[in-house]
Amino acid sequence: MSNLSQGLVQIYTGNGKGKTTAAFGLALRAVGHGFRVFIIQFMKGNDGYGELDGIKRLSPECQLEHYGGAGWVHKGENLEENIVEAKKAFSRAQEIVFSGNWDIVILDEILNAIWFELIPESEVMELLTKKPSHVELILTGRNASEDMIEKADLVTEMVDKKHPYDKGIMSRQGIEF
Ligand code: ATP
Ligand code: MG
Repeated sequence: MSNLSQGLVQIYTGNGKGKTTAAFGLALRAVGHGFRVFIIQFMKGNDGYGELDGIKRLSPECQLEHYGGAGWVHKGENLEENIVEAKKAFSRAQEIVFSGNWDIVILDEILNAIWFELIPESEVMELLTKKPSHVELILTGRNASEDMIEKADLVTEMVDKKHPYDKGIMSRQGIEF
């Protein structure tokens, strides 16, 4: 197994398209060099995402688990199911980060889970502080807080300049999900 000499914290945030797919692109690249990548998706309860099957092609070096409730989440009116699922996802994330078995850990949509108050930001901060030095952590999701941005080593903001959704083109299989 390869080992990263220095593991950093990356954030992909902003309201433009490309955060989740950027993280998966990184996973693809890393697996090519023999690194082991674990992806945990927050707030993704349904099974319709192409990445669920796509990532199996990179197995066993890359693994994915997804967690989430059934419906939409509305800020301030969080269903118990959404909180339970987010907490499950986060405790799994802690286990994976500290296991010593994974070089890169992608926590997809975790920044959204914080924003919706499904998990406390303080606990995520603590994970970032205490993570083993060789583990690279990638956090994605809209609405990264200033504190998270301050804490990360790399922050990219995807800016929405144009999206086909604006002219009525609905989500396309294989592109948006
Ligand atoms: P992707 O998964 O395509 O990399 P993302 O992770 O940046 O996108 P999210 O904020 O997670 O985007 O949004 C979830 C869904 O909304 C995705 O299907 C994404 O393609 C789509 N989306 C992203 N940006 C926009 C936008 N500006 N308008 C409409 N839909 C969008
Ligand atoms: Mg996303």
